[in-house]
Formats: sequence, structure tokens, C-alpha cells
Amino acid sequence: MSSRARVLVLNSALGPLDYRVPHGMTVEPGSIVIAPLGPRQLLGVVWEPERMPSDAEVGDNRLRNLIGVVDVPPLADPLRRLIEWTAGYYLAPPASVVRMAMPSSSALEGARTVTEYRATGLVPDRMTPQREQALERIGDRQGLIRELAIAADVSDAVIRGLVKTGAVEAVEVDIDSPYPLPDPGFGQPALSADQRAASEVLVANVTARAFQPTLLDGVTGSGKTEVYFEAIAAAIREGRQTLVLLPEIALTEPFLQRFTARFGCEPVAWHSGLRSSQRRRAWRAISSGQALVTVGARSALFLPYANLGLIVVDEAHETSFKQEEGVHYHARDVAVMRGLFEPCPVILASATPAIETRQQVALGRYAELKLPGRWGAAEMPAIEAIDLIAEPPERGRWIAPRLVRAMQETLERREQVLLFLNRRGFAPLTLCRTCGHRFQCPNCTAWMVEHRLVRRLACHHCGHIEQVPRTCPECQNEDTLVPVGPGVERIADEVAALFPDAKTAVVTSDTIWSPAKAAEFVHRMEAHDIDIVVGTQLVTKGYHFPNLTLVGVIDADLGLNGGDLRAAERTFQQIMQVSGRAGRGAKPGHVYIQTHSPTAPVMRALITGDADAFYEAETESRREAGAPPFGRFAGIVVSSEDKAAAHEIALLIGRSAPRVEGMEVYGPAPAPLAMLRGRHRQRLLVHARRALDVQDLIRDWLGKLDWPSKVRVTVDIDPYSF
Ligand code: ADP
Ligand code: ZN
Repeated sequence: MSSRARVLVLNSALGPLDYRVPHGMTVEPGSIVIAPLGPRQLLGVVWEPERMPSDAEVGDNRLRNLIGVVDVPPLADPLRRLIEWTAGYYLAPPASVVRMAMPSSSALEGARTVTEYRATGLVPDRMTPQREQALERIGDRQGLIRELAIAADVSDAVIRGLVKTGAVEAVEVDIDSPYPLPDPGFGQPALSADQRAASEVLVANVTARAFQPTLLDGVTGSGKTEVYFEAIAAAIREGRQTLVLLPEIALTEPFLQRFTARFGCEPVAWHSGLRSSQRRRAWRAISSGQALVTVGARSALFLPYANLGLIVVDEAHETSFKQEEGVHYHARDVAVMRGLFEPCPVILASATPAIETRQQVALGRYAELKLPGRWGAAEMPAIEAIDLIAEPPERGRWIAPRLVRAMQETLERREQVLLFLNRRGFAPLTLCRTCGHRFQCPNCTAWMVEHRLVRRLACHHCGHIEQVPRTCPECQNEDTLVPVGPGVERIADEVAALFPDAKTAVVTSDTIWSPAKAAEFVHRMEAHDIDIVVGTQLVTKGYHFPNLTLVGVIDADLGLNGGDLRAAERTFQQIMQVSGRAGRGAKPGHVYIQTHSPTAPVMRALITGDADAFYEAETESRREAGAPPFGRFAGIVVSSEDKAAAHEIALLIGRSAPRVEGMEVYGPAPAPLAMLRGRHRQRLLVHARRALDVQDLIRDWLGKLDWPSKVRVTVDIDPYSF
């Protein structure tokens, strides 16, 4: 009879620890418990000792007692295996992996209701500037005192004061109320022959309840969503849960609308924008199995689904599935692992699959289903290049005459235009024309970017903002600052000058920062309250606007510079995706790509539409270079506020690199962003043959070394930034 339990304590950098299970308490692997650690009481998860070794074996007599067991279902074995796999593969502490999808302890325990607050509309007798600000910013928001205080940028005390005056009131929210059940027969469309063939295979996979990764490879507008909806319908009929992963919250809104049209109600949403009560309710319904379909961002992968029957990764090629902070993991790859452990089928949907995914298909590990044509009468758009050297825009302008003419004609036909430039703000660089001073971020190796809409200079890496000064801080001259190069806001100015009567909207994370803003944008497009959209990658995917027939890519070369091994692939994907917004209805679409290198292989592939030839050439050059998926990379980033310390430890790590056949270590050298958020960064790059266990080598290598706590060492397996 064992009265010990090994517990992975969350909110602790320590590995698993042993505890005594007091009389009358029963725990099993996966149980969520409350454990003492020093003076604190923390959440933990019980683990099998043989699967989670501890380096501090403690004698029975020195064990501390567990304090309690939380009354929620234990984390099931497949999820625990996923956590172990993720921690092992990405060299992350298992507790950090668990924490990505675990609400706080108060959220798990006890009460079935939460007290939230909202404004009543009453005006308090005594108004202060703070109270005024709070009421204005709270608007029709509802949430905990803390959440409202953060939203309004005031202290908790201000909100509490408003509660006393009656201007803000308490509301009880029931976090155990069930979610509506999606109806698989609600809005079932008639499928085309291709769509039906693909959906039948996916439905069979769902009913087989086995692991089966499948690439759903269909051109933009071919109806991939409708097809995987059939697989979701099958899972619902079986009473099993589905997880749909989307690359960005901005995409959730159009998705929710389409889901509702198909299934009669919204799915459960899981993303960082949820209030704590929403989070609690979702977590409980997911872990009980009541929530049948969850749509979410990356971290939804680690939720405790009671009986997962299907995983869909939509826009599976998107690089935003790669998390670059905390646990550095790739959600697409972890999704496939979750499917393996559950087991259940995994659908990767994309019009432009990543080379890594195509390679898995070529090796026979993933199945592939193709949808070769657009649905209904829609044709693929015609794509033309505009050679910026042969046909330059006018001086000080960025839109070439041929594109201007096409815009003119499109507007005359009462159709809509999208101009794409993947650069937020007005200009990427601002400098003083008198002395040449440039604005640099004080915390990062990056220029400050001027945002005219909000009249600020902003760093796109750390979020640092400054007012735009009237005089140059260096030479004190007035009115001498000039913008260099275009951002979307500058393009919008040019559009306004060219077409003063057209209604123009700028779509970036500055203007679409919430699902509600995304919904507003969709409604305005559908109501034709917008003629011309100027946007960043936020508008390249997911949206379906039948009246949008012209797409102009302002600078197709933008992503090609910079030495990233995925640069050409990413450019291809991005431009294919944005082109895919054109001509999705009955009216034909046209795409103009402005470029300085119309003969580059990626531009040729875009114009001829020969994706296969492009992918083959790219794959071949990756093979020759031993780059992924044929070889592996890992980045080791050493950072510290103390520049010398970062450098010293980076050198130490470099000197201690193991000598292994088939593995090379480059650096240390300053990381691509040599300074980020005030920390100096050095990087080593490990390049290894596929067959080597890089994780094991790095674990051994770093495990033997020590560094002061002011230095942080992070490992990025399969890095995306070079
Ligand atoms: P993709 O995800 O491949 O880009 P979508 O699923 O967005 O394509 O489909 C494009 C458009 O065609 C959507 O408006 C969708 O509702 C419509 N559509 C696709 N297939 C069908 C169908 N079988 N019946 C009705 N509408 C369809
Ligand atoms: Zn910065």
C-alpha cells in the first residue's frame, strides 16, 4: 500500500516532488491536487513515479502531506503523455506545459457561480476624473473587479467605490450552465463530387476512432471548411469532441459565423481574450465532455478534453502556430502528437501546405485529400506581375500606374479592392532630414515605427511607444522629420489622394484588435460600406468577400530579404493566400504583384500558378542544404540585461559544445534581434542530421553547465526566426 504520490507542482521551477497522501484521501495519476511548497499552497498534478523521475528522493518521514484533491476529472493518460512529449521534445519544464491550459486554483474549486460586475448606467453623486475615466472605458464590459480595473486603467479601489455608489453592480454568473449543442443536420450544404469524396474519407476516419493525420489540400475557395465541417458533424453524432485550431483570434469571428450557419449555434471559444469566468466555464465543460466543439488558439491543445474525437488545424501552414515565447512549440506538430496519443484523426487544412507537411505526405505518414477547383462558378484569379523597374510609380508614390488603372475600373464596376502590404504604421523608418537622426527603440535593436492614426512612434518588438516630437531630439530643428518607405497607413493616404470619393479602411492589428472589431469589419465589407481595404497579413486569409475582385500586392519582395530559410516559401504562401481573396464569388478576380524581381522563381511560380514546380525546387534546395525537413536546427539564445554576462555564458556554452559526427554548432553571435526588451541576446545555432537526438545532446550539454540567475538560456527546437 503506497501512501506516496509524485506531484508535478505548477508555478514552480522545480521538477516533480514526492508527497504523502494522508489517510482518507485517494489520488490517482492525473488527479489535480493542492500541495504545500514552502509557505505556499499550489496546484499540482499527480504523475506516475516511473514516468516522471525526481532528482530529490526524500525519505518517508520527511514527506509533507498533500492538502486536498480538487473536484475535477483527473488529467487523462493521453494528455499526460502529450505533456511529457512536449516537455521532452521542446526542452521545456513539464509544469510550464501544463500551465498553458490550467486555470488558477480558485477557478477550479468550489463555487459554481462567479460574481462579476458591470455598469448600471447610474451616474455617481460624486464624480471624479478617475471615476469618469473608469465608467467611460468600462462601457458595456462585464468582469471581475480586477478585470474592469485593468480595462479602465484605474485601481481596484476606484471600481469598488463605484460599486458603493450604485454606478457599478454585481451579477452572479453561472459557470456550470451547459453550452448549447451543435446540430449536425442544421445547415448541411449539398457538396460537389470532389467535396463529397473528401468528406466521406474524413467521416470514415472519425468513426474509425484511430490516429490518422490527413492533409486537406485545396485551393483557396474550394470549400475546405465545408468539407471538414462534415467530419465535425460526424464527431458530434458520435458524441465525441472536436478541437479546431485557428492561427489567430482575428480569424475566429468569421469562423464563428460560418459555424453557426452550419450547426445552429456557436462553438466554445478558447483564447487569451476570455474573461476568467468564461475560461472557468469553458474548462469545466471541456473536461466533463459537455462542450462538443472548441475553437481556439494554440494553447487549446493542452485542454483536458474528456473524449476527443477529432482535431482540425485550419490554415495549417501559418507560422503563427509556432509559439516564440515561454514554451517554444509548434502547435501544428503538437496537434498531430495529441491525435496519436488520444488516438483520433487530425486534419491539416491548407491551400499552401508547408514543405514539412508535404514531406510527411511524400513519406506516406500523412494521407492527402485534394480539392483541385474552387466551389461553384468561381474561377482562380488571374495573376500578373508589375515590374517596378519598368513601370515605376510616380515619385513619392507606391502604387504603379497599371494597378491604379485597375483600381479605377474595379471601383467603376462597384466592386471592392484589397491592397496588401505587410507593414503596420505609416513608415518603417523616420529620420531627421537635417542631421540624419533615426528613432531607435531604447529596449530593442529596432527602429521606431510611426503610426499616424494614433500619433505615436512604436516599437513592434516590445511595444514601447513615444509621442512624435515636433523637433528633432538631436539637432532641435523643427519640422524636419521625414518618413522613409511605406507602411499601410501611408498607402491609405495615397489611395485617398487618388480616389477621394472611395471609402477606404486600414486593416491591421491597430484597427482590428478584438473579435468585435473583426465582426464590424466583416459587416462593413458585406454592406459595401468599404470600397478599398489596405491591410497587413491580417486580411490575407479566412475572409470570404464575393464582391472583392481586385488584389494588389504593394511590395512582393518584402519578405524575401533577411536570410530566413523559409523566406521564399513564406512569400509564396502569403501571396497565394492574399490572391485567394480575389474573385471568390461569381465575378472573376485579378491580382497584381508589384516586384523588383519578376523573374525570381517564387514570382514565376505565382504568375504561372505552378505551385508544384516551385515546391519541388524549394524542397530540393532544402535537401541540399540539410535544412528542415531533411536536417534539424535548434537555437540556443543566451540573454541578460548585463551584456558582458550574456556574452560570457554564450562563449562558455560554445566552448562546451559536444563534438558529435553530423552536428555543427555555429556562434555565438548576436541574435537576429541583438537586444530585445532591454536584454542583450547572443545566439548559438545547432545544425544536425535528422537521425541525431538533438534534444538529448542539448540536455546533456547544458545540464553540465551553470550560469548566474541574471542570465537566461532558452532553447528553440525547429526555430522559425533566423
Ligand atoms: P476554403 O476554406 O477552401 O478557402 P471555403 O470553405 O471558405 O473555402 O469556401 C468558399 C466559399 O464557398 C464559402 O462561402 C463557402 O460557404 C462556399 N461553399 C463551398 N462549398 C460549398 C457547398 N458545397 N455549398 C454551398 N456553398 C459552398
Ligand atoms: Zn522595443
